[in-house]
Amino acid sequence: MYASSFARLAKDRGLKVLVIERRPHIAGNCYTERQEGIHVHRYGPHIFHTSNLAVWQFLNRFAEFNNYINTPLAVSRGDLFSLPFNMYTFHQLWGVRTPEEARAKLREQCVDYGRPPENLEEQALSLVGPDLYNRLIRGYTTKQWQKDPRDLPAEIIRRLPLRFTYNCNYFNDRFQGIPVGGYTQLFENMLDGIEVRLGVDFHEQREWWESQANKIVYTGKIDEFFAFEHGELEYRTLEFRDYWLETDNAQGNAIINYCDEVIPYTRKIEHLHFDPPLNPVTRTIVTEEIPAVWSREKTPYYPVNTVANMAIYERYRRQADAMENYVFGGRLAEYKYYDMHAVVGAAMLRFQSLGLGD
Ligand code: UDP
Repeated sequence: MYASSFARLAKDRGLKVLVIERRPHIAGNCYTERQEGIHVHRYGPHIFHTSNLAVWQFLNRFAEFNNYINTPLAVSRGDLFSLPFNMYTFHQLWGVRTPEEARAKLREQCVDYGRPPENLEEQALSLVGPDLYNRLIRGYTTKQWQKDPRDLPAEIIRRLPLRFTYNCNYFNDRFQGIPVGGYTQLFENMLDGIEVRLGVDFHEQREWWESQANKIVYTGKIDEFFAFEHGELEYRTLEFRDYWLETDNAQGNAIINYCDEVIPYTRKIEHLHFDPPLNPVTRTIVTEEIPAVWSREKTPYYPVNTVANMAIYERYRRQADAMENYVFGGRLAEYKYYDMHAVVGAAMLRFQSLGLGD
């Protein structure tokens, strides 16, 4: 998202732009692939949401967004819960019906540490207490990050809203949706008129590329850029297992989370619910998302922002900041767990701050 947004902004200013991409396709991890009329989110589900009008208007130039609202469900020990934590969840768990009853239950449960929470477990216990933590957070988080929640930063869980209304909209943002026709088409439109070279590894000819451009926007892994000289950063990687099922609706929802640690996948995605196919289908594709052990050659999905990793990143960042001919942006180059809208917003701000083309 960062690279393509930046490329578009630069092109619109009349600058000469070239995009090089190591993979055989554009769109990074947002890439969608059309299979039997269904837009499959090849690298995991991407749901666009933002409250930033400028970001929303910018992306609407390249796609029409549908009115998809993310309402994931969570399975725990065979029971089904609503997400994010809202009145339905509290009712399902405790039988309470009113916000007052729910608040009373939470007051009973929440742990008061008398200081800011120091890790994800403390954050969760102080926010929702042990019932919700043990049913819906601990197993999922341990699987997802392959770490004890006590060794993870509290910020990860701050993403989960807590609501006292019967509202299952996962996000609070004003604008939400999925690009009709898939993300790949959105990226094609965003890169319209821009030269793109696929299957090109920047690192193999770095000096050559540096001699070609005044500014290089690098959106790959920051540790790889510096040949791992301060040590390797940790990322989370995933494996995806697809199943075609002979029905037009297998799970009744796009995303179902599986919170028990004994189940290897964290969630099952039924892609057709994101962007319903134009013609009726008789088969549907469901993908299991399985966290896997990280190694250099695998696809990175999430940075792991532990204290130890952030100390390593800080060394890379200082070095990167001193390189005036480069812009380092996006989840991998900034080693930051941020969403698509924030990435686009960051690219816009950075572009403006450089005064390029003025
Ligand atoms: N999480 C959880 N249970 C859930 C969903 C999320 O414990 O059913 C926690 C988990 O630690 C996860 C974090 O919340 O990493 C953020 O979840 P989100 O769905 O926002 O993550 P993403 O879609 O970026 O993977």
